[in-house]
Amino acid sequence: RRRVSARIAGITPSATLAVDAKARALKAEGRPVIGFGAGQPDFPTPEHVVEAAAAAVRDRSNHGYTAAAGLPELREAIAAKTLRDSGFSCDASQVLVTNGGKQAVYSAFATLLDPGDEVLLLAPYWTTYPESITLAGGVPVQVTADESTGYRVTVEQLEAARTDRTKVLLFNSPSNPTGAVYSRDQVEAIGKWAAEHGIWVVTDEIYEHLVYDGVKAESLPVVVPEIADRTLILNGVAKTYSMTGWRVGWMIGPRDVIKAAASYQSHLCGNVANVSQRAALAAVSGPMDVVEEMRAAFDVRRKKIVSMLSEIPNVECPTPEGAFYAYPSVKAVLGKKIRGQRPTDTLELADLILREAEVAVVPGEAFGTPGYFRFSYALAEEDLVEGVTRVANLLSEAK
Ligand code: PLP
Repeated sequence: RRRVSARIAGITPSATLAVDAKARALKAEGRPVIGFGAGQPDFPTPEHVVEAAAAAVRDRSNHGYTAAAGLPELREAIAAKTLRDSGFSCDASQVLVTNGGKQAVYSAFATLLDPGDEVLLLAPYWTTYPESITLAGGVPVQVTADESTGYRVTVEQLEAARTDRTKVLLFNSPSNPTGAVYSRDQVEAIGKWAAEHGIWVVTDEIYEHLVYDGVKAESLPVVVPEIADRTLILNGVAKTYSMTGWRVGWMIGPRDVIKAAASYQSHLCGNVANVSQRAALAAVSGPMDVVEEMRAAFDVRRKKIVSMLSEIPNVECPTPEGAFYAYPSVKAVLGKKIRGQRPTDTLELADLILREAEVAVVPGEAFGTPGYFRFSYALAEEDLVEGVTRVANLLSEAK
């Protein structure tokens, strides 16, 4: 008998974490590594959120088990916030509070999928998606878009990938890793196509507030209301309020599915930490000016990084309209000689950049699309400029 189950042994180690670990090891040796790997805002959690959490720690009524589906006042506040921010109308019974958006992703597929059910996975995709589909017994079916469409897939591509086993379309706009935001027309076309074929939609809206150039993140079931009864909306406080470590996310959906997912959660982990839930309550029902300040700071860095990356020969960088990532193609660099080496894929090239330029970037292999790098611009502007300059200098040696 094997020591580790086939199911768990089959999980691909996270390439994002691998880059991070190497970068950290170099830093520990005292090397001046600049990291573009982190998928988290570099701002502190807003003060009023921290204060609410501190009060919750001291409140003894907050120390015991609470309802597995979430604190009633937080579920209410999430329903109200969702109507305010995206226009999607639901009540508290349709909200399940989870341990981060990550657990919402996992629970969504655990709740929806039977063995062999196919999920259309738009690539470049967030690293966690295929693993959560596979662990739930589902089959990820990758549908890939490249820089020529700004990383947006079309209905024609989805239709070509549809089979009689297709159960779910996984949608993520603004996207990690590309920063792509689908327009209202595109969201409408995709939503109508899913509705027509009886396909469920899981839509991850965790970057909804991080949009630029006047672009709006459209919520799929708001644009196409007829699909709301077969849609799960995923979201969380991590990216919007700089609360990655607090671990609060949620899932919104039809009552029967939320009831089933809550029952699953009651056995899996019970309630999310009460202190974190009270902090999340302060965040989602609190002022939004802090969020706007962070967004404005990201926007400055976004413009800087896109203009710098675009000037590097053999690098093509579409302008991301959301999240805090740039996703340039470096396909034209592969196979060329740099410092005596000829990297043939982006895993090798990322390694070379880390060793020679002491800059950490995440290779496209982590997102289902070799040939690209993900740069997170959630770092100080001077580090951003220094880091991209080093990459530019190294890549300009390619012959
Ligand atoms: N969805 C996407 C697209 C993400 O990029 C992330 C975090 O990287 C999450 C969900 C989950 O975030 P968390 O579990 O920290 O709430």
